[in-house]
Amino acid sequence: MTTTHAYAATDAQSKLAPFEFQRRELREHDVHIEVLFCGVCHSDLHQARNEWKNTMYPVVPGHEIVGRVTKVGPQVSKYKAGDLVGVGCLVDSCRTCASCQEGLEQYCENGFVGTYNGNERETGAVTYGGYSTQLVVDEAFVLRVPENLDPAGVAPLLCAGITTYSPLRTWGAGPGKKVGIVGLGGLGHMGVKLAHAMGAHVVLFTTSPSKIDDAKRLGADEVVISKNQAEMDAHANSFDLVVNTVAAQHDLNPFINLLKRDGTLTLVGAPEHDHPSPQVFNLIMKRRRLAGSLIGGIAETQEMLDFCGKHGITSDIEMIPMQKINEAYERMLKSDVKYRFVIDLDSLRK
Ligand code: NAP
Ligand code: ZN
Ligand code: ZN
Repeated sequence: MTTTHAYAATDAQSKLAPFEFQRRELREHDVHIEVLFCGVCHSDLHQARNEWKNTMYPVVPGHEIVGRVTKVGPQVSKYKAGDLVGVGCLVDSCRTCASCQEGLEQYCENGFVGTYNGNERETGAVTYGGYSTQLVVDEAFVLRVPENLDPAGVAPLLCAGITTYSPLRTWGAGPGKKVGIVGLGGLGHMGVKLAHAMGAHVVLFTTSPSKIDDAKRLGADEVVISKNQAEMDAHANSFDLVVNTVAAQHDLNPFINLLKRDGTLTLVGAPEHDHPSPQVFNLIMKRRRLAGSLIGGIAETQEMLDFCGKHGITSDIEMIPMQKINEAYERMLKSDVKYRFVIDLDSLRK
């Protein structure tokens, strides 16, 4: 067992604070990782504050993890000490159900094990995430990080990257397709970069006029202020796919109106309170689809990392020491982050 330094929330109201715990001894297929960087996902905030009503305290958030392998268990074949690796939202699943067999571990029919706030399959122990100095993970859930990319900028790919990559791939973003991304936050800015690299015509929908120039720099062909009715009307009935990353409850009808016949609005934003049901006729009349999508499986996450390596894609980040996490949460709530906070875990080793 190794003493791990971390930050945890102990209840829904308190700020995150220093916390120590023991990582498990290496099992046969385990990889021991020294955590270098961990991205700050809006889901971390939802979980720390029990907004999804399932948080087990104390909770150590963090599922956008990049680190170096320091030790491996006797049966590990994919990784060795010194390798640069990533861990995302999943650390285990049943591996036998239909979804797991298809490489869709995030939809495991017996429940995947989350990187934090999950229960280990063997022991039931609660999992602790990447706001910590070290991690022990089964090699099957460890990703290889392309060596040509900045490791701190890679961290957010492990959730924000895959969560936008997966629906873009599932619904065929590419040349000749018009793709909308709603919200320019951590997920949204990755969605813009990835859809642009896939060759789609990308339109970013934002509530923040101050983000227009950034959106274009990140790869948006057009930017629309979603509260401006005339701008929205100009794009009605024209999209193949709209990926909605917004972290708060809102009216979906304006975004369904953007879809052409057979177009899809995919929700990835997971707000505390459900959106009101959209108008049924708005869907029926053009055979439009309303869908959802959850992160991505291990194989697709590796595919996404390799795609980012090939295209030189990383997240635009603001690095923070662990001690600044509570301020980062407050700024994230004000949409005041360009475009992902990443924790430098060296700040916990000092
Ligand atoms: P984020 O960085 O805070 O970005 C969310 C963006 O949504 C903001 O930058 C803002 O963009 C927009 N927004 C926020 N509040 C809004 C409001 N009241 N009305 C309209 N727009 C608003 O969050 P994130 O880390 O990207 O996460 C986004 C959501 O996805 C969270 O709910 C998170 O839990 C969820 N998530 C889901 C999955 C999945 O697998 N489905 C995975 C990861 C995260 P503008 O300023 O451009 O309007
Ligand atoms: Zn996340
Ligand atoms: Zn399964």
